[in-house]
Amino acid sequence: MIRDRWTRMRTAVHPARKSTPCKFGGPVFAFITALVVTSPAALSFAQTAPPAVANVRIGVFGLFHPHQLTLSAPLGHALVVRAGEEQIVLERSSGVNSVNILLSGSEIVLQSGARTLRAPALTVSGRKNGPTDFVLAVPGKIARHYRGALEIRQSAGHLLAVVTMDRETAVASIVAAESTVDTPFEALKAQAVATRSYLVASRGRHYDFDFCDTTHCQFLREPPETGTMVAQAVEATRDMVLAYESKPFAAMYTRSCAGRTRTPTELGLPAAVYPYYPVECKYCREHPVRWSSRIPAEDAARLRSSNEPARLRAARNLGWNTIPSNSFIVKKKDGENRAEGTGQGHGIGLCQAGAKAMAAEGDDFRQILLHYYPNTAIISIPVIADPLSQSRWEN
Ligand SMILES: [Zn+2]
Ligand SMILES: [Zn+2]
Repeated sequence: MIRDRWTRMRTAVHPARKSTPCKFGGPVFAFITALVVTSPAALSFAQTAPPAVANVRIGVFGLFHPHQLTLSAPLGHALVVRAGEEQIVLERSSGVNSVNILLSGSEIVLQSGARTLRAPALTVSGRKNGPTDFVLAVPGKIARHYRGALEIRQSAGHLLAVVTMDRETAVASIVAAESTVDTPFEALKAQAVATRSYLVASRGRHYDFDFCDTTHCQFLREPPETGTMVAQAVEATRDMVLAYESKPFAAMYTRSCAGRTRTPTELGLPAAVYPYYPVECKYCREHPVRWSSRIPAEDAARLRSSNEPARLRAARNLGWNTIPSNSFIVKKKDGENRAEGTGQGHGIGLCQAGAKAMAAEGDDFRQILLHYYPNTAIISIPVIADPLSQSRWEN
């Protein structure tokens, strides 16, 4: 196969994505306790892994640049909201179960009934400083249920909300966002391993938190209910991550690949820690997702196929759905420029459409991962401590 002729390279983390040191948070160390072989090239003995983290800090709702948020306690949960020296407990049974949060200069203002608190920042956790369930909303735009602990403060003139959640809750919340109701179980498991790998290997992608909740990092929605297919897929792959040359790497994935996956270098990106390999994707070859967009003349002149930086630049100008993939040609048609292409996403790594098809044909998650990430192994990196008990908020 083509991929066998590719040479391995060792380089930096995927550079198309912002990678800056994480300002806060101390990693909780964990060690590999098992190594599961998935490819002939994989090592077959247990070994020590780089440190893993037990929790992740995710910046949420950043796209909305909010100046107002509401926080409420779901039934059966008590939220301890701390603002400076004061605190409010939100609980349905007490009749006070929500708080309005506003930005006033650099100060956070909390309004709950007749009570108003002011502080530079606020934190929210359960009664014992542990994780809790809560609902956070940007009024009139979005409301989402989270499980973890919350910190809110001012940043760049808007409210910054950061949810600290344990890694497996984050994996489940991302797999829920990255799958559809028809995604087969083995494809969900493959997605869970890829997602977990990304969280383990790519921490600290933002200055104030580890990951955002958009495609810049990974989509994140509400944690799935216990017993759902997504929850079971995450549990069935608990602690499993992808490793290349014994090291976890930030496994990239794409919605549909246009028939053959790409590598960072062939898309004009510096090489990644894992070099990736172009692999055939039978499903996308036979069922390509086609798209067509009108492109203004000035953008058409700059647009290049198979160049991710150029695509991202154009997408920022024209909208994210205008250039959905890297495989396209620009044609002049009836006096206007049109980009006509196939595929969805950058095309690197696991193809979600192809993974669904492989699972539907009986392949298991190991076979899916081995196909899209050749020359890798699945290793186990368990979490060894209650993540939120290690939180820097605890006192
Ligand atoms: Zn991000
Ligand atoms: Zn594909």
